[in-house]
Amino acid sequence: MRSIPCGEIAPSLLSCDFSQLAAQVELVMDAGAKVIHVDVMDGHFVPPITIGPLIAESIRDLVHDRGGILDCHLMIERPERQVEAFAKAGADVITVHPEATPHIHYALKMIREAGCNAGVVINPGTPVSAVEQVADIIDLCLVMSVNPGWGGQKYIPEATARVAELRGMLPPSVVMEIDGGITLDTIDAARDAGVDVFVA
Ligand code: ZN
Repeated sequence: MRSIPCGEIAPSLLSCDFSQLAAQVELVMDAGAKVIHVDVMDGHFVPPITIGPLIAESIRDLVHDRGGILDCHLMIERPERQVEAFAKAGADVITVHPEATPHIHYALKMIREAGCNAGVVINPGTPVSAVEQVADIIDLCLVMSVNPGWGGQKYIPEATARVAELRGMLPPSVVMEIDGGITLDTIDAARDAGVDVFVA
């Protein structure tokens, strides 16, 4: 299993021009990116439909050959049904939402059994206590600092305190990631609260 590098900006594939996918991934990795964030949306859990395992698979070698990892954020209902497909497509991290399945514990165990790092993601309206019962079986915790699925939102300032609370609750080995509205104005506060990986 590839380890998750810390102190990193993780560019989201959604910001790229898909007609130039490989060239754009090369560009950000040549500029130093080590974590490529893959935002998967299903049109149910969140309104938009984006990309799936086929796209992850199409860039896996490109990313791995440059020493990077594929960080797949599943904004989909019943994510446990897609864990195997993403693991086969080359995902190094798979993150799932507790709001999207009654079987979050099982889904996280499946991710680890598939040889990937397991991550739990929480929405701005989800209490941090949702992470407590799975704290011992995760490698990463992703805090949404906007509501997933709607573009152009600003960083929700309460996310910073939520990161700090989770940092205090989770084992030190768990990587903290934040997703949404990260800019030069918001990144310092997030880093001070304990964030290791910043989706941008
Ligand atoms: Zn994401």
